[in-house]
Amino acid sequence: MTATVDWTALAATVAPQTGLLIDGRWGAGAGTHDVVSPIDGRVVTQIAMADGADVDRAVGAARAAFEDRRWAGMSPMDRKDVLVRWAQLAGEHADELAVLHALEMGKPAREAKAIDVRAVVRTLRWYGEAIDKVLDEIPNVGDSSWAQIEREPVGVAGAIVPWNFPLTMAAWKLAPALAVGCSVVLKPAEQSPLSALLLAELAMEAGLPDGVLNVVNGTGPVAGRALAEHPDVDVITFTGSTAVGRMIMQYAAASNLKRTYLELGGKSANVIFPDADLDKAARTAAWSVFYNAGQMCTAGSRLLVHESVYDEVMGLVLEVAAEMQPDNPLNPDAPLGAVVSAKHLGTIHGIVTQGLAESGSLLTGGAPVRTETGGSYYPPTVVDAVRPESTLAQTEVFGPVLAVTTFRDEAEALALANGTVYGLASAVWTNDLNRARRFSKGLRVGTVWVNCYEEGDLTVPFGGVKQSGHGRDKSLHAMDKFTDLKTTWIELS
Ligand code: NAP
Ligand code: MG
Repeated sequence: MTATVDWTALAATVAPQTGLLIDGRWGAGAGTHDVVSPIDGRVVTQIAMADGADVDRAVGAARAAFEDRRWAGMSPMDRKDVLVRWAQLAGEHADELAVLHALEMGKPAREAKAIDVRAVVRTLRWYGEAIDKVLDEIPNVGDSSWAQIEREPVGVAGAIVPWNFPLTMAAWKLAPALAVGCSVVLKPAEQSPLSALLLAELAMEAGLPDGVLNVVNGTGPVAGRALAEHPDVDVITFTGSTAVGRMIMQYAAASNLKRTYLELGGKSANVIFPDADLDKAARTAAWSVFYNAGQMCTAGSRLLVHESVYDEVMGLVLEVAAEMQPDNPLNPDAPLGAVVSAKHLGTIHGIVTQGLAESGSLLTGGAPVRTETGGSYYPPTVVDAVRPESTLAQTEVFGPVLAVTTFRDEAEALALANGTVYGLASAVWTNDLNRARRFSKGLRVGTVWVNCYEEGDLTVPFGGVKQSGHGRDKSLHAMDKFTDLKTTWIELS
């Protein structure tokens, strides 16, 4: 039994770092910024904000730490110990990390602890443990030569992350980059710096040398851009919108041709065939778009359902929608929290309004709720009979909004599922193994779930195709992003 946490009391006392972390020291930046909680619209605290000169200092510290090999040159066993200790400290501070998560971006603190903090602990530990288990290669090139293929850390990595899973996204970037020996400059989203700052503080406590991890809070167009344009950054690992991903590639092209790895948006579909376990399929599909108030790159924002089972499936979807109503994220029973900000609430509602003007009919939700709290809350929203080419079927809403379309046969379902610019994920629900395999092969996405959603662990890569990007987080493959392959060919005599 885990003890119940009084999240409201903890929220009142938690005191996170608010500065920039550069070269192991916390300090001021060029400006400051209010972190506003979407729970009630109140200011949580003020943080330091970096400008281009601050980013330049952070990159300089990361470069110096890389060049003198204070981290990359440490024995793999010692680096492993640091990451594993960091994982342990994150677990010990799970309540504070979770409550900061709730305060800054509105997710229920209980869930942030059970899901996000757990993911962080596991990610740090998994990559820590992997450090001395990835081997280099010696090809057979004949008796007169000796060749070897070595993995070398690329140098300085810039990590730019969004607010929807601020801790998990940071850990997915930091852990493999640090595991291979890179130095990192992290730019959290301006809405959600606090949990990332605490995570960085714990890295210092775990013994990560100064300058190896630097954190620059700041806006995207100022701090993010300065990082992506910096001539001394070797790789940018980015999670965020497709629009900003496009800019990151331009910054890289216009500066030093740094590599970019982009994890972008999605418009993922749950495809339900009549032979599926309909109860599980419908409930999971509904959960997959309402969870985290729909603010997920993998949100199952489209439901493609065979016309013969439409009524049964929709009955269950609406049941789940009724159960998952938003509440104060500090309430231990809140099934759903707030959306990240008043601005984002307006964006969600704007897309729903425009979408409804084009096609479909509203079955539930469709307008902000709990407005008397001063916070930003949007209820589960379901629109059926959405035309495939219309806004609600094509645009990433990033809110708890489900677009439902029916299909008649497998070919039509596949064309609908693949019919967006995105290719992040999709789920197919069927008990016919042949169909499951055939349909999975036909889906142009980075991840297919069969009879489940959001399942997986650290052993499998995650990322998209098409305009959902081209990087892969998680798994040993993520380490490739932060390594170069060096060939050494020795001629023997
Ligand atoms: P966003 O606006 O693209 O922001 C992502 C990050 O980029 C933030 O840190 C942001 O900083 C920064 N940024 C903004 N403009 C920039 C610029 N010109 N140069 C450099 N950096 C810049 O995305 P978001 O609204 O925070 O997050 C939602 C998006 O992320 C959705 O599209 C979602 O699908 C995607 N996402 C994808 C995945 C995945 O793994 N595929 C996972 C989660 C989310 P500021 O916000 O501080 O300005
Ligand atoms: Mg943003």
